[in-house]
Amino acid sequence: MNKDQIFNIVEQIKQGHQLTKIEALALVETSDKESLYEAANEVRKYFLGNYFDLCSIENAKSGACSEDCKWCSQSIHHHSKVDVYELVESSVAVKQAIKNESYGVKRYSLVTSGRAVSNKNLDQLCETYKTIRSSSEISFCASMGLLDKAKLEKLKNVGVEHYHCNLETSRRFFPELCSTHSYNEKIETIKTAQSIGMKICSGGIFGMGETMEDRIDMAIDLADLGVQSIPINFLNPIEGTPLQNSITLSKEEVLSSIAIVRLINPKANIRFAGGRNLLKSYQEEALRTGISAAVVGDLLTTTGSSGVEEDKVDFLKAGFHF
Ligand code: SF4
Repeated sequence: MNKDQIFNIVEQIKQGHQLTKIEALALVETSDKESLYEAANEVRKYFLGNYFDLCSIENAKSGACSEDCKWCSQSIHHHSKVDVYELVESSVAVKQAIKNESYGVKRYSLVTSGRAVSNKNLDQLCETYKTIRSSSEISFCASMGLLDKAKLEKLKNVGVEHYHCNLETSRRFFPELCSTHSYNEKIETIKTAQSIGMKICSGGIFGMGETMEDRIDMAIDLADLGVQSIPINFLNPIEGTPLQNSITLSKEEVLSSIAIVRLINPKANIRFAGGRNLLKSYQEEALRTGISAAVVGDLLTTTGSSGVEEDKVDFLKAGFHF
C-alpha cells in the first residue's frame, strides 16, 4: 500500500469505516512504514485529541496462581522468583491510591493473581475500595480473573467502573500459551461485565511468538467487543517462565503493531503497559503511532516505567496533556 492508499483509508476510518482484516494485513505490509505511523497518529488525534489518560495498578494478591500462562512469573507451574502474598493491606492500597491521585493519575486498579478472586478476598477488596473512596475521588478499575455476574456486581456496587481482562493474543494462538483456561472464558467474562454496565479494559502482550496476523485478529476481536481501553504490553521475558528465551521485537514490529491496533480501534485508549522500558530509546516515536494512554507507577511483575513525574514529562514533550 502506498501513501495515498493509506491516507485514503484514514479518511474512511474518520467517516466510521471499520478496518477489515484484509485491509489491516495490507497496511502492515506497506514498505512506507512512516506513513503507516503517521496515519495512526492522525486517527488518534482526530478521535481523541491530545488528552493522555493515566492509570495505575496495585498488585493486590501476588503469586501462587493455579493457571499456567507461559509468560507469567506468578504461576505455580513455573520456576520464577516472585513475591507471594495474600491480600495487600488495605492501608497500603489507600496510601497508594491517594499518592497516584496527587500525581494526576485518573484511575486505580486492584489486581489479583489467580483464575478468579475468591469470595472472601473479594469482600475484603470491596472494603478496601470503600475505604479509598472515603478519602479519594480516583476512578476505580479491577482485574481479578474470570468472574461471574455476582462477583462483578459486587465490584460495580463499590464503584468499580472498568473491568480488566486481557485477551492476551489471538484466539488461534492462545491455547499455545495457556492450557488451564480458554479464550472463550475471557470473552464470557468481558461480555458479563458489559451486561451490567461496566466498561472494559482488555489488550494483550506482544512478543510471545505470535505473528502480526495474530495481533490483528486480537485487535479485531477487541473492536467487535467495543473495548474502551486496550493495554499493550511488550514481553519482558522472565527467568523461570517458558518464554524466558523469547526474542525482543524489532522497533519496526513494535511501531507497526501499535499503529495497526490504533487503526482497527480508532476511538479506544491504546495504552502503554508492561515492558515499556524495552522501547525507552524510541518511546517518543512510539507515542506518535497511536498511543493515547499509559499505566504508570509500579507495574506487576515487569518494569513498566521509572516514575510518574518522569513519565509525565515524556508525555508532555510528545505534545499530550492530562
Ligand atoms: S496471567 Fe494471571 S491467570 Fe495467568 S498465571 Fe499469571 S496470575 Fe495466573
